[in-house]
Amino acid sequence: MPARLPILPGAPLGILGGGQLGRMFTIAARTMGYRVMVLDPDPQSPAGQMADIHLQADYTDHGALKKMAEACAAVTTEFENVPAASLVELSRYTRVAPNAEAVAIVQDRSREKTWLRENGFATAPFALVSHEIELEAGATAAGFPAILKVSRFGYDGKGQIRVNSRQELASAFTELKGVPCVLEGFVQLASEVSVVLARTDSGECSSWPVGENHHINGILDTTRVPASVNQSIQERAQETAMQIAGRLGYVGVMAVEFFVDQGGNLLVNEIAPRPHNSGHYTLDACVTDQFEQQVRALCGLPLGDTRLLSPVVMVNLLGDVWRHGPDWMALLQYPGIKLHLYGKAEARPGRKMGHYNCLAENIDTAAALAEQTRKALGIIPL
Ligand code: AMP
Repeated sequence: MPARLPILPGAPLGILGGGQLGRMFTIAARTMGYRVMVLDPDPQSPAGQMADIHLQADYTDHGALKKMAEACAAVTTEFENVPAASLVELSRYTRVAPNAEAVAIVQDRSREKTWLRENGFATAPFALVSHEIELEAGATAAGFPAILKVSRFGYDGKGQIRVNSRQELASAFTELKGVPCVLEGFVQLASEVSVVLARTDSGECSSWPVGENHHINGILDTTRVPASVNQSIQERAQETAMQIAGRLGYVGVMAVEFFVDQGGNLLVNEIAPRPHNSGHYTLDACVTDQFEQQVRALCGLPLGDTRLLSPVVMVNLLGDVWRHGPDWMALLQYPGIKLHLYGKAEARPGRKMGHYNCLAENIDTAAALAEQTRKALGIIPL
């Protein structure tokens, strides 16, 4: 439903999903004077703890969706696996951004990769495999080594198996229970970068500086800004991300992750229809952070300034750090550290519990601070 814009502070906003991204959206919205309703089945959800109202229900619960639609001037989402049908249902009664069609494309890796190819965006070589008989052709298209990735509900390297031969591919497909997958050729990476941006209803687009990402076991470990990759790659990444947002008719904050291969080619890895872990550096290092921008884009307000105020390295805190009890004093003794914890009660290995930003006068000092504090917390050395 078209909403009367702008939606001004004081109005109630809704968010589907109560994880850490929803929590940081909620904090930003409440800071700006909005009220927030969170829909999430988890009684202890990180965002629910911060919200004015936590609707504890499933994302497909018609009663809960109706309540949210009636109460909220606009609704957004914090994770891509929200059923697109729920966004459609909500959009009959209230403003919903991003739109259901964009979310439906990017939440399914097969659709996303196909859409990227059809729209002329470079990706790693890939093939769709939904049946055993497609494995042979898939192997020819992607080559070896390759990674078999489930199309739906994979995240942080989960639902992915690296394969080196046709035989390994066949057993990986069986291990993934024969669900629809994308088989992707393995890229010899020079680096990984991402662009987080916001786009408004009128098509105005504003991005933050490119983040240089380092992953461990498929999970983001650090983001460094300014990135050390050359300027022309950074400019191409920003242009490509903006073109993708435009083609999707996207409204809100979104992220595009890229591979940079050894030849300097930029390949789109994936699109996230929401703020992104690699954009958490904006919380402390930019004039406007990605969550405030999400509020602004959702409400039809002018976008805020995305300027970088300080070099920064963001470090993720996974549940593994809780094994010995994190030594917070070893971290917080440094005045340039900004700590963000998500209020999760249970620290499981690999679970994102929080992050911190290391701010310094130059990027080398910020990187040294990240390295020193990672060591003090017992995080695997870079
Ligand atoms: P994804 O969940 O697909 O973003 O994958 C998680 C991480 O695994 C990426 O950020 C890369 O570090 C690595 N990865 C995934 N796919 C590939 C690929 N085709 N070639 C090289 N590395 C990959």
